[in-house]
Amino acid sequence: MPAIPTSVRFVIVGAGVHGLSTAWHLAMELEARGTGSGRDVLLLDKTAPGAGATGIACGCVRNLYMTEALHPILRHSVDVWTSDPINLGFQQVGYVSVGAANQESEYEAITRSQNAAGYPSDLRVGEEARRFLTGVWPDFNTEGVACVLHEKPSGYAGTRQAVWGLARKCEQHGVLIRSGIEVTGYDLVQGRVRAVRTTAGDVACDAVVLGLGAWTPRHWALLDLPDRLTVRYADGRETADRPMWTYWRLREGEVFQDPPYRDATDRDPPVLHVELMDRPVRDPATGAELQDHIYVYWKNGAERMPAPGVQGGITPVRLGTEAEVDPYGHANDRYQAEPAFADIFCASLGQLMHRFEGCRPRYHDRRNGGICAFTPDNVPIFDWVRENVYLIADSGHGFKMTGVGKLVARHLASGERVPDLAPFGYRRFAEGRTFGGHNTNSPWV
Ligand SMILES: Cc1cc2nc3c(=O)[nH]c(=O)nc-3n(C[C@H](O)[C@H](O)[C@H](O)COP(=O)(O)OP(=O)(O)OC[C@H]3O[C@@H](n4cnc5c(N)ncnc54)[C@H](O)[C@@H]3O)c2cc1C
Repeated sequence: MPAIPTSVRFVIVGAGVHGLSTAWHLAMELEARGTGSGRDVLLLDKTAPGAGATGIACGCVRNLYMTEALHPILRHSVDVWTSDPINLGFQQVGYVSVGAANQESEYEAITRSQNAAGYPSDLRVGEEARRFLTGVWPDFNTEGVACVLHEKPSGYAGTRQAVWGLARKCEQHGVLIRSGIEVTGYDLVQGRVRAVRTTAGDVACDAVVLGLGAWTPRHWALLDLPDRLTVRYADGRETADRPMWTYWRLREGEVFQDPPYRDATDRDPPVLHVELMDRPVRDPATGAELQDHIYVYWKNGAERMPAPGVQGGITPVRLGTEAEVDPYGHANDRYQAEPAFADIFCASLGQLMHRFEGCRPRYHDRRNGGICAFTPDNVPIFDWVRENVYLIADSGHGFKMTGVGKLVARHLASGERVPDLAPFGYRRFAEGRTFGGHNTNSPWV
């Protein structure tokens, strides 16, 4: 068992993207202010950095959210990704999202908000949208396409490289990362954590930051926080007795592609996302309907595949309030992408691009996918949930959100309010600032 200090200013629990980014940026903030250093920060993980969703994510970095408050968060995140794209494994290829006519007004609002947040994107509609798509991917089947959003700063990152890069940054700034140490409880006195209980002993601290991904509900209970709540919206509606946490299973997979997946200019194409609610996915052999809508995303499979190919996913599946979190990810038999997923994913690819027609035999048959814990409105919580416990619960949005740690670190080091974090307070549910419903098959709103 590695040794840990018995007392430190900040304990960060969980070395996923949020724990790592917060620890790195907190070390830099403390140094810059002359109020401390990475030595004041202890980052604990019960397994190792990247053992959660961060290590298995698809790695898409995009900003297609109807929740406008997320647009500045992604701008901060891309600032972090581009601060060292090599060590963080970031490829700034852009992102293209394709919608049907019923999404046009939402796409307009998103484009306006992204640009206002300093995140440059273009919207194209009608014939211009379809021409844009075939300009990038000459074999794109544009049937049913009405609008296309092109985000220029977006892209993707290799998850292993990102974890490696973030962990190195922490170490370079003196953060103590300790793997194989589990936080088992909190010494909570009158709403304040005096010490974090771990398998290597208690650690007294001033503040705790939780970056626990799918394990968040477990620690929520350890902190004696309520598992059901009343959710209030700005228009006065309210729903009582809603579960605080809901698990979803994310389905993803890979398809080999030779010649390699390239755009019309022989470059790595933008990350692509297509949601066409009125266009069913059909079995290419029988014509049978596999799903009544197309919802699919994919990108170059780069880091993860032994040969050229693409990696992507379709709509996640809602599991409910219970899930088996351990073992996590590819180690858990229950939550792997199933053959029916592969059928829908491959058929969607084939319907949208000629090059993928009949690609089912090229599906990379191996473990893929994982689970995430979502909040009542599927939007992150970044807030103090106990007097000295700060929660980063990204609601499954988060591999891309390296910028959250930067903002949280600024808040922790300065004690000042950070306006871009303010909309994500836990108290929004009680105070009537819950985010609303949206026109999509996805929980990522
Ligand atoms: C299959 C899949 C694909 C995804 N694709 C994308 C994508 O393309 N783009 C995107 O932006 N997001 C994606 N996501 C979501 C994203 O990966 C997560 O939202 C994000 O990585 C969560 O990061 P985190 O730091 O909160 O938690 P995690 O990465 O889950 O890290 C939590 C850490 O906490 C540790 N831990 C747990 N319990 C304890 C304890 N008691 N004591 C100490 N340590 C503990 C775990 O070992 C783990 O390392 C995907 C998720 C999945 C599952």
